[in-house]
Amino acid sequence: MSVTQPITTPPVREAPEHNPFESMLRRFDKAAETLGLDDGLYQILKAPEKELKVAIPIQRDDGTYEVLEGWRVQHNSAMGPCKGGIRYSPHVNVDEVRALAAWMTWKCAIVGVPFGGAKGGVRCNPREMSLKEIEKVTRRYTSAIMDIIGPDRDVPAPDMYTNEQVMAWIMDTYSVHHRHTVTGVVTGKPWGLGGSMGRKEATGRGLLTMVREASRVKKLDLAKAEVVVQGSGNVGGTIAVLLSEIGVNIKAMSDIDGGLVNEKGLDVPALVAYIEKHRTLDGFKGGDRCSNQELLELRCDILLPCATENEITPANAGKLNCKIIVEGANGPTAADADAILDSNDVFVIPDILANAGGVVVSYFEWVQDRRGYFWDERDVNNRLHKTMQKAFRQVLKRTKTSKVNMRTAAYMDGIDRVAHVTKMRGLYP
Ligand code: NAD
Repeated sequence: MSVTQPITTPPVREAPEHNPFESMLRRFDKAAETLGLDDGLYQILKAPEKELKVAIPIQRDDGTYEVLEGWRVQHNSAMGPCKGGIRYSPHVNVDEVRALAAWMTWKCAIVGVPFGGAKGGVRCNPREMSLKEIEKVTRRYTSAIMDIIGPDRDVPAPDMYTNEQVMAWIMDTYSVHHRHTVTGVVTGKPWGLGGSMGRKEATGRGLLTMVREASRVKKLDLAKAEVVVQGSGNVGGTIAVLLSEIGVNIKAMSDIDGGLVNEKGLDVPALVAYIEKHRTLDGFKGGDRCSNQELLELRCDILLPCATENEITPANAGKLNCKIIVEGANGPTAADADAILDSNDVFVIPDILANAGGVVVSYFEWVQDRRGYFWDERDVNNRLHKTMQKAFRQVLKRTKTSKVNMRTAAYMDGIDRVAHVTKMRGLYP
Protein backbone atom coordinates (compact mmCIF):
# COMPACT_ATOMS: atom_id res chain seq x y z
CA MET A 1 0.00 0.00 0.00
CA SER A 2 1.51 3.35 -0.92
CA VAL A 3 0.33 6.29 1.13
CA THR A 4 0.18 9.05 -1.41
CA GLN A 5 -2.65 10.94 0.25
CA PRO A 6 -2.28 13.00 3.45
CA ILE A 7 -3.20 11.17 6.65
CA THR A 8 -5.69 13.13 8.69
CA THR A 9 -6.78 12.57 12.26
CA PRO A 10 -10.09 13.98 13.54
CA PRO A 11 -9.62 16.81 16.05
CA VAL A 12 -9.38 15.74 19.70
CA ARG A 13 -12.62 16.69 21.41
CA GLU A 14 -12.93 18.33 24.80
CA ALA A 15 -14.02 16.00 27.61
CA PRO A 16 -17.71 16.66 28.37
CA GLU A 17 -18.54 19.05 31.20
CA HIS A 18 -20.02 16.21 33.23
CA ASN A 19 -17.55 13.37 33.09
CA PRO A 20 -19.62 10.13 32.88
CA PHE A 21 -16.99 8.10 34.75
CA GLU A 22 -17.04 10.66 37.60
CA SER A 23 -20.85 10.39 37.62
CA MET A 24 -20.55 6.61 37.89
CA LEU A 25 -18.01 6.89 40.73
CA ARG A 26 -20.17 9.32 42.72
CA ARG A 27 -23.13 6.96 42.61
CA PHE A 28 -20.84 4.00 43.31
CA ASP A 29 -19.42 5.78 46.39
CA LYS A 30 -22.87 6.52 47.75
CA ALA A 31 -24.07 2.94 47.27
CA ALA A 32 -20.81 1.46 48.65
CA GLU A 33 -21.09 3.64 51.75
CA THR A 34 -24.72 2.69 52.34
CA LEU A 35 -23.79 -0.99 51.89
CA GLY A 36 -20.83 -0.64 54.26
CA LEU A 37 -18.55 -2.15 51.59
CA ASP A 38 -15.10 -2.91 52.98
CA ASP A 39 -12.24 -0.78 51.73
CA GLY A 40 -10.42 -3.59 49.88
CA LEU A 41 -13.48 -4.54 47.84
CA TYR A 42 -14.17 -0.87 47.23
CA GLN A 43 -10.70 -0.47 45.65
CA ILE A 44 -11.07 -3.62 43.54
CA LEU A 45 -14.58 -2.93 42.24
CA LYS A 46 -14.09 0.63 41.16
CA ALA A 47 -10.95 0.07 39.07
CA PRO A 48 -11.31 -1.09 35.42
CA GLU A 49 -9.45 -4.40 34.89
CA LYS A 50 -8.16 -3.75 31.40
CA GLU A 51 -8.11 -0.85 28.94
CA LEU A 52 -6.97 -1.26 25.36
CA LYS A 53 -6.48 1.75 23.11
CA VAL A 54 -6.06 1.11 19.40
CA ALA A 55 -5.33 3.09 16.24
CA ILE A 56 -7.56 2.27 13.29
CA PRO A 57 -6.10 3.38 9.95
CA ILE A 58 -8.58 3.38 7.07
CA GLN A 59 -8.69 4.58 3.50
CA ARG A 60 -11.73 6.75 2.83
CA ASP A 61 -13.76 6.41 -0.39
CA ASP A 62 -12.08 9.56 -1.77
CA GLY A 63 -8.65 7.90 -1.44
CA THR A 64 -7.48 9.84 1.65
CA TYR A 65 -6.21 8.06 4.75
CA GLU A 66 -7.41 8.60 8.27
CA VAL A 67 -6.33 7.15 11.61
CA LEU A 68 -9.19 6.78 14.05
CA GLU A 69 -8.95 6.13 17.79
CA GLY A 70 -10.71 3.18 19.39
CA TRP A 71 -10.99 1.64 22.84
CA ARG A 72 -12.15 -1.53 24.54
CA VAL A 73 -12.44 -1.33 28.33
CA GLN A 74 -13.13 -4.36 30.50
CA HIS A 75 -14.29 -3.14 33.85
CA ASN A 76 -14.85 -6.34 35.82
CA SER A 77 -14.98 -10.04 34.96
CA ALA A 78 -15.80 -11.53 38.37
CA MET A 79 -19.26 -12.73 37.26
CA GLY A 80 -18.17 -14.21 33.91
CA PRO A 81 -17.03 -13.17 30.43
CA CYS A 82 -17.20 -9.42 29.91
CA LYS A 83 -20.14 -8.05 27.94
CA GLY A 84 -20.86 -4.67 26.45
CA GLY A 85 -21.67 -2.74 23.32
CA ILE A 86 -19.53 -0.93 20.79
CA ARG A 87 -20.28 2.71 20.05
CA TYR A 88 -19.29 4.75 17.00
CA SER A 89 -19.45 8.45 17.79
CA PRO A 90 -17.45 11.63 17.08
CA HIS A 91 -17.49 12.45 20.82
CA VAL A 92 -16.58 9.11 22.38
CA ASN A 93 -13.57 9.22 24.73
CA VAL A 94 -11.95 6.85 27.19
CA ASP A 95 -13.83 8.18 30.24
CA GLU A 96 -17.14 7.62 28.47
CA VAL A 97 -16.13 4.05 27.57
CA ARG A 98 -14.92 3.44 31.17
CA ALA A 99 -18.22 4.62 32.57
CA LEU A 100 -20.21 2.53 30.09
CA ALA A 101 -18.10 -0.54 30.96
CA ALA A 102 -18.70 -0.10 34.70
CA TRP A 103 -22.43 0.42 34.16
CA MET A 104 -22.44 -2.92 32.29
CA THR A 105 -20.89 -4.62 35.33
CA TRP A 106 -23.66 -3.41 37.66
CA LYS A 107 -26.37 -3.94 35.03
CA CYS A 108 -25.48 -7.60 34.42
CA ALA A 109 -25.40 -8.24 38.17
CA ILE A 110 -28.78 -6.54 38.76
CA VAL A 111 -30.58 -8.70 36.19
CA GLY A 112 -28.59 -11.81 37.17
CA VAL A 113 -26.88 -12.65 33.88
CA PRO A 114 -23.46 -14.33 34.27
CA PHE A 115 -21.38 -11.61 32.63
CA GLY A 116 -18.93 -8.94 33.65
CA GLY A 117 -18.92 -5.44 32.20
CA ALA A 118 -17.11 -4.03 29.16
CA LYS A 119 -17.61 -1.42 26.46
CA GLY A 120 -15.94 -0.33 23.25
CA GLY A 121 -15.90 2.80 21.17
CA VAL A 122 -14.47 4.23 17.97
CA ARG A 123 -14.27 7.98 17.50
CA CYS A 124 -15.78 8.54 14.07
CA ASN A 125 -18.88 10.06 12.55
CA PRO A 126 -20.90 7.27 10.93
CA ARG A 127 -23.43 9.82 9.64
CA GLU A 128 -20.76 11.08 7.29
CA MET A 129 -19.40 7.66 6.30
CA SER A 130 -20.39 5.24 3.55
CA LEU A 131 -21.33 1.67 4.39
CA LYS A 132 -18.03 0.50 2.91
CA GLU A 133 -16.07 2.86 5.19
CA ILE A 134 -18.03 1.68 8.24
CA GLU A 135 -17.26 -1.92 7.27
CA LYS A 136 -13.52 -1.13 6.98
CA VAL A 137 -13.50 0.56 10.40
CA THR A 138 -15.37 -2.37 11.92
CA ARG A 139 -13.09 -5.05 10.52
CA ARG A 140 -9.89 -3.17 11.43
CA TYR A 141 -11.15 -2.38 14.95
CA THR A 142 -12.13 -6.05 15.39
CA SER A 143 -8.68 -7.25 14.40
CA ALA A 144 -7.11 -4.70 16.75
CA ILE A 145 -9.08 -5.92 19.80
CA MET A 146 -9.17 -9.58 18.76
CA ASP A 147 -6.77 -10.76 21.47
CA ILE A 148 -9.08 -9.71 24.27
CA ILE A 149 -12.52 -10.64 22.89
CA GLY A 150 -14.11 -14.07 22.38
CA PRO A 151 -17.16 -16.04 23.53
CA ASP A 152 -15.49 -16.88 26.86
CA ARG A 153 -13.60 -13.61 27.26
CA ASP A 154 -15.54 -10.57 26.17
CA VAL A 155 -18.62 -10.46 23.96
CA PRO A 156 -19.43 -7.13 22.21
CA ALA A 157 -22.92 -6.03 21.11
CA PRO A 158 -24.52 -3.01 19.37
CA ASP A 159 -24.68 0.44 20.92
CA MET A 160 -25.05 3.92 19.43
CA TYR A 161 -24.57 3.92 15.65
CA THR A 162 -23.72 0.22 15.48
CA ASN A 163 -26.28 -2.40 14.48
CA GLU A 164 -26.88 -5.99 13.34
CA GLN A 165 -24.82 -5.47 10.19
CA VAL A 166 -21.82 -4.23 12.19
CA MET A 167 -22.14 -7.27 14.49
CA ALA A 168 -22.19 -9.57 11.44
CA TRP A 169 -18.92 -8.01 10.20
CA ILE A 170 -17.30 -8.43 13.64
CA MET A 171 -18.40 -12.07 13.77
CA ASP A 172 -17.12 -12.69 10.25
CA THR A 173 -13.74 -11.01 10.86
CA TYR A 174 -13.20 -12.93 14.11
CA SER A 175 -14.27 -16.20 12.43
CA VAL A 176 -11.93 -15.72 9.45
CA HIS A 177 -8.99 -15.37 11.87
CA HIS A 178 -10.09 -18.40 13.92
CA ARG A 179 -10.67 -20.57 10.83
CA HIS A 180 -14.21 -21.51 11.82
CA THR A 181 -17.50 -19.72 12.43
CA VAL A 182 -17.68 -18.37 15.97
CA THR A 183 -21.19 -16.97 16.37
CA GLY A 184 -20.87 -16.46 20.14
CA VAL A 185 -18.20 -13.75 19.83
CA VAL A 186 -20.84 -11.00 19.52
CA THR A 187 -24.55 -10.63 20.21
CA GLY A 188 -27.11 -8.51 18.40
CA LYS A 189 -26.39 -10.40 15.16
CA PRO A 190 -28.98 -10.79 12.41
CA TRP A 191 -31.46 -13.65 12.63
CA GLY A 192 -30.07 -16.64 10.71
CA LEU A 193 -26.49 -15.74 11.55
CA GLY A 194 -26.63 -16.76 15.20
CA GLY A 195 -28.89 -13.85 16.17
CA SER A 196 -31.79 -14.24 18.55
CA MET A 197 -35.42 -13.46 17.89
CA GLY A 198 -36.33 -10.33 19.81
CA ARG A 199 -32.76 -9.03 20.38
CA LYS A 200 -33.19 -5.93 18.23
CA GLU A 201 -36.26 -4.81 20.19
CA ALA A 202 -35.06 -6.14 23.55
CA THR A 203 -33.92 -2.88 25.16
CA GLY A 204 -37.16 -1.15 24.17
CA ARG A 205 -39.23 -4.13 25.29
CA GLY A 206 -37.44 -4.14 28.65
CA LEU A 207 -38.30 -0.44 28.96
CA LEU A 208 -41.95 -1.32 28.42
CA THR A 209 -41.84 -3.57 31.50
CA MET A 210 -40.23 -0.68 33.42
CA VAL A 211 -42.90 1.78 32.26
CA ARG A 212 -45.66 -0.59 33.35
CA GLU A 213 -44.04 -1.30 36.73
CA ALA A 214 -43.29 2.37 37.44
CA SER A 215 -46.85 3.37 36.48
CA ARG A 216 -48.19 0.74 38.89
CA VAL A 217 -46.04 2.13 41.71
CA LYS A 218 -47.07 5.71 40.95
CA LYS A 219 -50.72 4.73 40.34
CA LEU A 220 -50.60 6.24 36.88
CA ASP A 221 -53.20 5.15 34.33
CA LEU A 222 -51.11 4.48 31.21
CA ALA A 223 -54.19 4.81 28.99
CA LYS A 224 -54.40 8.47 29.97
CA ALA A 225 -50.68 9.15 30.22
CA GLU A 226 -48.61 11.53 28.09
CA VAL A 227 -45.16 10.29 27.15
CA VAL A 228 -42.12 12.10 25.74
CA VAL A 229 -39.24 10.14 24.14
CA GLN A 230 -35.83 11.65 23.46
CA GLY A 231 -33.95 9.74 20.73
CA SER A 232 -35.59 7.67 18.05
CA GLY A 233 -32.98 5.04 17.29
CA ASN A 234 -33.05 1.41 18.32
CA VAL A 235 -34.05 2.15 21.93
CA GLY A 236 -36.23 5.27 21.59
CA GLY A 237 -37.88 4.15 18.35
CA THR A 238 -38.77 0.73 19.75
CA ILE A 239 -40.26 1.92 23.04
CA ALA A 240 -42.27 4.59 21.20
CA VAL A 241 -43.69 1.97 18.83
CA LEU A 242 -44.46 -0.49 21.63
CA LEU A 243 -46.22 2.16 23.72
CA SER A 244 -48.20 3.48 20.77
CA GLU A 245 -49.27 -0.10 19.97
CA ILE A 246 -50.96 -0.31 23.37
CA GLY A 247 -52.64 3.05 22.83
CA VAL A 248 -50.34 5.32 24.85
CA ASN A 249 -50.12 8.94 23.69
CA ILE A 250 -46.57 9.71 22.52
CA LYS A 251 -46.64 13.47 22.73
CA ALA A 252 -43.11 14.16 21.47
CA MET A 253 -40.06 12.46 20.03
CA SER A 254 -36.65 13.65 18.88
CA ASP A 255 -33.41 12.75 17.22
CA ILE A 256 -30.05 14.50 17.01
CA ASP A 257 -31.58 17.14 14.70
CA GLY A 258 -34.28 18.19 17.21
CA GLY A 259 -37.79 17.26 18.30
CA LEU A 260 -41.38 17.05 17.11
CA VAL A 261 -44.33 17.68 19.40
CA ASN A 262 -48.04 17.02 18.92
CA GLU A 263 -50.40 17.48 21.90
CA LYS A 264 -52.85 15.00 20.36
CA GLY A 265 -50.15 12.36 19.95
CA LEU A 266 -47.67 11.63 17.16
CA ASP A 267 -48.34 9.03 14.48
CA VAL A 268 -45.40 6.93 15.72
CA PRO A 269 -45.35 4.15 13.08
CA ALA A 270 -45.40 6.77 10.30
CA LEU A 271 -42.69 8.81 12.02
CA VAL A 272 -40.43 5.79 12.56
CA ALA A 273 -40.88 4.73 8.92
CA TYR A 274 -40.03 8.30 7.86
CA ILE A 275 -36.83 8.27 9.98
CA GLU A 276 -35.82 4.90 8.56
CA LYS A 277 -36.16 6.28 5.04
CA HIS A 278 -34.66 9.76 5.53
CA ARG A 279 -32.26 9.07 8.48
CA THR A 280 -33.74 12.15 10.23
CA LEU A 281 -37.14 13.25 11.53
CA ASP A 282 -36.57 16.63 9.94
CA GLY A 283 -39.33 17.28 7.39
CA PHE A 284 -41.97 14.98 8.92
CA LYS A 285 -45.40 16.63 8.85
CA GLY A 286 -47.53 15.80 11.85
CA GLY A 287 -46.01 17.83 14.66
CA ASP A 288 -44.38 21.13 15.56
CA ARG A 289 -40.61 21.41 15.74
CA CYS A 290 -38.87 21.95 19.08
CA SER A 291 -35.31 21.67 20.33
CA ASN A 292 -34.07 18.69 22.36
CA GLN A 293 -33.90 20.95 25.44
CA GLU A 294 -37.50 22.13 24.96
CA LEU A 295 -38.57 18.54 24.48
CA LEU A 296 -37.12 17.51 27.84
CA GLU A 297 -39.01 20.29 29.60
CA LEU A 298 -42.43 19.50 28.07
CA ARG A 299 -45.25 18.69 30.51
CA CYS A 300 -45.75 14.91 30.51
CA ASP A 301 -46.26 11.95 32.82
CA ILE A 302 -43.32 9.85 31.66
CA LEU A 303 -40.07 11.06 30.14
CA LEU A 304 -37.86 8.51 28.37
CA PRO A 305 -34.37 9.88 27.61
CA CYS A 306 -33.14 7.35 25.02
CA ALA A 307 -30.37 9.28 23.25
CA THR A 308 -27.11 10.04 24.98
CA GLU A 309 -25.33 11.06 28.22
CA ASN A 310 -25.74 14.18 30.32
CA GLU A 311 -29.01 15.38 28.83
CA ILE A 312 -30.36 16.06 32.33
CA THR A 313 -28.04 18.25 34.38
CA PRO A 314 -28.44 20.77 37.23
CA ALA A 315 -29.13 23.38 34.52
CA ASN A 316 -32.43 21.79 33.45
CA ALA A 317 -33.33 19.18 36.11
CA GLY A 318 -35.48 21.69 38.02
CA LYS A 319 -37.38 22.59 34.86
CA LEU A 320 -38.49 19.06 33.98
CA ASN A 321 -42.24 18.63 34.14
CA CYS A 322 -42.73 14.87 34.49
CA LYS A 323 -43.62 12.36 37.23
CA ILE A 324 -41.52 9.43 36.06
CA ILE A 325 -38.21 9.18 34.19
CA VAL A 326 -37.27 5.85 32.64
CA GLU A 327 -33.65 6.03 31.47
CA GLY A 328 -33.36 4.22 28.14
CA ALA A 329 -29.98 5.79 27.41
CA ASN A 330 -26.86 5.12 29.45
CA GLY A 331 -25.97 8.02 31.72
CA PRO A 332 -28.62 10.52 30.56
CA THR A 333 -28.63 12.12 34.01
CA ALA A 334 -25.49 13.72 35.44
CA ALA A 335 -24.85 12.74 39.08
CA ASP A 336 -25.27 16.30 40.36
CA ALA A 337 -28.84 16.40 39.00
CA ASP A 338 -29.99 13.44 41.15
CA ALA A 339 -30.77 15.51 44.25
CA ILE A 340 -32.84 18.01 42.25
CA LEU A 341 -34.99 15.25 40.77
CA ASP A 342 -35.41 13.69 44.23
CA SER A 343 -36.49 16.98 45.78
CA ASN A 344 -39.08 17.38 42.99
CA ASP A 345 -40.38 13.87 43.72
CA VAL A 346 -39.58 12.55 40.24
CA PHE A 347 -39.54 8.73 40.26
CA VAL A 348 -36.37 7.80 38.32
CA ILE A 349 -35.82 4.29 36.98
CA PRO A 350 -32.05 4.35 36.46
CA ASP A 351 -30.24 3.24 33.31
CA ILE A 352 -28.48 0.27 34.91
CA LEU A 353 -31.89 -1.24 35.62
CA ALA A 354 -34.16 0.31 32.97
CA ASN A 355 -32.20 -0.47 29.81
CA ALA A 356 -30.93 -3.91 30.88
CA GLY A 357 -33.32 -5.67 28.47
CA GLY A 358 -30.67 -5.55 25.75
CA VAL A 359 -28.10 -7.47 27.75
CA VAL A 360 -30.70 -9.92 29.01
CA VAL A 361 -31.56 -10.97 25.45
CA SER A 362 -27.86 -10.79 24.51
CA TYR A 363 -27.36 -13.42 27.21
CA PHE A 364 -30.18 -15.48 25.67
CA GLU A 365 -28.49 -15.13 22.27
CA TRP A 366 -25.12 -16.27 23.69
CA VAL A 367 -26.81 -19.29 25.29
CA GLN A 368 -28.59 -20.15 22.00
CA ASP A 369 -25.34 -19.79 20.02
CA ARG A 370 -23.51 -22.12 22.39
CA ARG A 371 -26.23 -24.76 22.19
CA GLY A 372 -26.98 -24.25 18.49
CA TYR A 373 -30.69 -24.34 19.32
CA PHE A 374 -32.87 -21.28 18.82
CA TRP A 375 -35.99 -20.18 20.69
CA ASP A 376 -39.13 -18.60 19.29
CA GLU A 377 -39.86 -14.91 19.84
CA ARG A 378 -42.63 -15.43 22.36
CA ASP A 379 -40.32 -17.51 24.52
CA VAL A 380 -37.60 -14.82 24.38
CA ASN A 381 -40.06 -12.00 25.18
CA ASN A 382 -41.67 -13.89 28.08
CA ARG A 383 -38.32 -14.69 29.68
CA LEU A 384 -37.21 -11.07 29.16
CA HIS A 385 -40.35 -9.68 30.79
CA LYS A 386 -40.02 -11.99 33.80
CA THR A 387 -36.33 -11.12 34.27
CA MET A 388 -36.96 -7.37 34.05
CA GLN A 389 -39.98 -7.47 36.33
CA LYS A 390 -38.07 -9.46 38.95
CA ALA A 391 -35.14 -7.02 38.81
CA PHE A 392 -37.46 -4.00 39.13
CA ARG A 393 -39.23 -5.48 42.14
CA GLN A 394 -35.96 -6.42 43.84
CA VAL A 395 -34.62 -2.90 43.43
CA LEU A 396 -37.91 -1.39 44.60
CA LYS A 397 -37.79 -3.59 47.70
CA ARG A 398 -34.33 -2.31 48.52
CA THR A 399 -35.52 1.31 48.28
CA LYS A 400 -37.81 0.49 51.20
CA THR A 401 -35.40 -1.56 53.32
CA SER A 402 -32.46 0.84 52.85
CA LYS A 403 -34.50 4.06 52.50
CA VAL A 404 -32.75 5.13 49.29
CA ASN A 405 -33.95 6.08 45.80
CA MET A 406 -34.16 3.64 42.88
CA ARG A 407 -30.75 4.62 41.54
CA THR A 408 -28.87 4.02 44.76
CA ALA A 409 -30.84 0.81 45.35
CA ALA A 410 -29.92 -0.45 41.86
CA TYR A 411 -26.22 0.33 42.41
CA MET A 412 -26.41 -1.40 45.81
CA ASP A 413 -27.93 -4.53 44.24
CA GLY A 414 -25.26 -4.67 41.53
CA ILE A 415 -22.30 -3.89 43.79
CA ASP A 416 -23.49 -6.30 46.48
CA ARG A 417 -23.60 -9.21 44.02
CA VAL A 418 -20.27 -8.51 42.37
CA ALA A 419 -18.67 -8.02 45.81
CA HIS A 420 -20.09 -11.35 46.98
CA VAL A 421 -18.72 -13.21 43.94
CA THR A 422 -15.35 -11.45 44.24
CA LYS A 423 -15.07 -12.55 47.88
CA MET A 424 -15.97 -16.15 47.01
CA ARG A 425 -13.42 -16.29 44.18
CA GLY A 426 -10.70 -14.82 46.40
CA LEU A 427 -7.68 -12.89 45.27
CA TYR A 428 -4.98 -14.41 43.05
CA PRO A 429 -2.13 -14.90 43.98
P1 NAD B 1 -29.05 4.57 17.98
O1 NAD B 1 -27.81 4.95 17.31
O2 NAD B 1 -29.91 3.52 17.37
O3 NAD B 1 -29.97 5.87 18.20
C1 NAD B 1 -29.51 7.00 18.87
C2 NAD B 1 -30.59 8.06 18.78
O4 NAD B 1 -30.23 9.18 19.59
C3 NAD B 1 -30.79 8.60 17.37
O5 NAD B 1 -32.16 8.90 17.18
C4 NAD B 1 -29.95 9.88 17.37
O6 NAD B 1 -30.37 10.81 16.38
C5 NAD B 1 -30.23 10.37 18.78
N1 NAD B 1 -29.22 11.27 19.31
C6 NAD B 1 -27.88 11.12 19.27
N2 NAD B 1 -27.28 12.17 19.87
C7 NAD B 1 -28.28 12.97 20.31
C8 NAD B 1 -28.33 14.19 21.00
N3 NAD B 1 -27.19 14.82 21.37
N4 NAD B 1 -29.54 14.72 21.31
C9 NAD B 1 -30.67 14.11 20.94
N5 NAD B 1 -30.69 12.95 20.27
C10 NAD B 1 -29.52 12.39 19.96
O7 NAD B 1 -28.62 4.18 19.47
P2 NAD B 1 -29.41 3.29 20.50
O8 NAD B 1 -28.92 1.90 20.38
O9 NAD B 1 -30.86 3.59 20.42
O10 NAD B 1 -28.80 3.85 21.88
C11 NAD B 1 -29.35 4.99 22.51
C12 NAD B 1 -28.92 4.97 23.97
O11 NAD B 1 -29.36 3.75 24.58
C13 NAD B 1 -27.41 5.01 24.20
O12 NAD B 1 -27.14 5.71 25.40
C14 NAD B 1 -27.04 3.55 24.39
O13 NAD B 1 -25.86 3.39 25.14
C15 NAD B 1 -28.26 3.09 25.17
N6 NAD B 1 -28.49 1.64 25.14
C16 NAD B 1 -28.61 0.96 23.97
C17 NAD B 1 -28.86 -0.40 23.99
C18 NAD B 1 -29.08 -1.20 22.73
O14 NAD B 1 -29.41 -2.39 22.84
N7 NAD B 1 -28.97 -0.62 21.56
C19 NAD B 1 -28.94 -1.08 25.22
C20 NAD B 1 -28.82 -0.36 26.40
C21 NAD B 1 -28.59 1.00 26.35
